Amino acid sequence: VGEGNVRVPAPAEHLRDATESRAVRGSALASVSPGDTEEVAAVVRWCAAQGLAVVRRGGGTGYSAGAVPAGDAIVIATDRLTGAARVTPEAWRGTFPAGMTTAEVHRRCRESGLFFAPNPGSAESCFIGGNVATNAGGPRSFRYGTTRAWVTGLEAVLGDGRIVRVGGSARKNVETLDFVGLLCGSEGTLGVITEVTLRLQPAPEAELPVLAIYADREAGLDALGSAMACGAVPAALEFLDGGALQAARATLPGGLPPGAAFAVLTEVLGTDTVAESEAAMLREALAPGALTVLAPQTRRDVEALWRWRSGVSLAVTAAAGGKLSEDITVPTERLGEALAAIDRIRVDAGVEMTSWGHAGDGNIHATVMADPTDPEALAAAEAVAHRLFTVPAALDGALSGEHGIGRLKLAAAAAQLNPDVLALQRAVKAAFDPFEIMNPRVKIPSVADQVTPTEQLVSR
Ligand SMILES: Cc1cc2nc3c(=O)[nH]c(=O)nc-3n(C[C@H](O)[C@H](O)[C@H](O)COP(=O)(O)OP(=O)(O)OC[C@H]3O[C@@H](n4cnc5c(N)ncnc54)[C@H](O)[C@@H]3O)c2cc1C
Repeated sequence: VGEGNVRVPAPAEHLRDATESRAVRGSALASVSPGDTEEVAAVVRWCAAQGLAVVRRGGGTGYSAGAVPAGDAIVIATDRLTGAARVTPEAWRGTFPAGMTTAEVHRRCRESGLFFAPNPGSAESCFIGGNVATNAGGPRSFRYGTTRAWVTGLEAVLGDGRIVRVGGSARKNVETLDFVGLLCGSEGTLGVITEVTLRLQPAPEAELPVLAIYADREAGLDALGSAMACGAVPAALEFLDGGALQAARATLPGGLPPGAAFAVLTEVLGTDTVAESEAAMLREALAPGALTVLAPQTRRDVEALWRWRSGVSLAVTAAAGGKLSEDITVPTERLGEALAAIDRIRVDAGVEMTSWGHAGDGNIHATVMADPTDPEALAAAEAVAHRLFTVPAALDGALSGEHGIGRLKLAAAAAQLNPDVLALQRAVKAAFDPFEIMNPRVKIPSVADQVTPTEQLVSR
């Protein structure tokens, strides 16, 4: 791969991801940046021959420590997988190298009049390969689905160095089992994704968000219900609680009204006529009981509002010095019950917490504030984070909606998920990764991780 592309020891920035805000750091023997798929395959074959674990790294923005290496591992960084992108405007399709940032994918699509909906708040730093590996979502997943819904084909290097292409450019394809679906959200456990083919859509003419702020959660939850019932089909339906609003108040366009305790942020996309009419329906649906309703119209103001939303996570981190952010999901109509259960955990533990997330998808970024330099505070916060996993178990939800299981939720997955499903996951992994070198102890619990006797498991 060229001498300059192998770093021994691995640089500090390749030993961490966004879980650094909860003091998670890893270790590795070395970090390698292959320049193309053949080089990735050669590195994987060499690691397999040495019996060394391989940990994949995209942009390093993950929230579950899947890219954080442990022990005698080799990091394969995908930052040099930035070869040619091919956009075919007339077929609404694009093929992108795994190391391209999501923001660059968006820019390339826009240049051709096309649109790729998944828009994680980390788009400037995360890679499209990382988005596929985590099946990333974001605000617009409410209407347009997560990354999986947009992928038709993938190129990947499996755990023994085989290069495979699954799916392809065709928008419909059922000639095999759904290997594209398996790789989406596999968190690096099945292979190294090197190239991604996406089905795209024509770019919408207009993007019109509406932000409404309320004095209490009940009014906000009612407004969410009204937004879903008003006849518009919003692309995004987000919520933020009072703590998140306070942390991010400095950059909120229009400022934060006194007494703000809950916000609903929604957006419609489409032709000018459709977007304007649906935005009007949403403004009307959100107005009752609101302290304020903000509906920016110009591109500059719209971008400023979404920049503010993307900065909420970092603003919350800055407010406390650090945070533990979980990513549970519940059925949409049980959001209120979930937030009440999170309240009970917070009060019982006596910690500071805040929540925001993708309300339409019932996806809650329940967050415990903790200074990562204070070991006691961190331990207390970790215990609370663990208790949060009881919420989706009780409400027919899931441990993670978009951030993944990674290393951090492995024990919760081992304890909560059905043993037969866990065994099936291990069998699938063995087919892709016969030497068990791909992201070991990430996402897929081993038999040893399932320490709890079967009869005590909360099986779902
Ligand atoms: C401020 C902020 C906002 C965020 N907002 C969102 C959001 O709205 N929605 C959302 O879903 N997530 C969000 N995230 C989380 C994160 O950005 C996503 O999970 C993203 O998809 C991770 O991509 P990455 O390239 O940074 O991957 P990494 O963090 O480098 O890796 C994540 C996982 O994918 C694996 N991986 C990475 N690249 C490859 C590859 N080429 N082949 C195989 N495996 C690979 C890694 O091994 C690891 O398990 C946010 C994070 C931050 C910091």
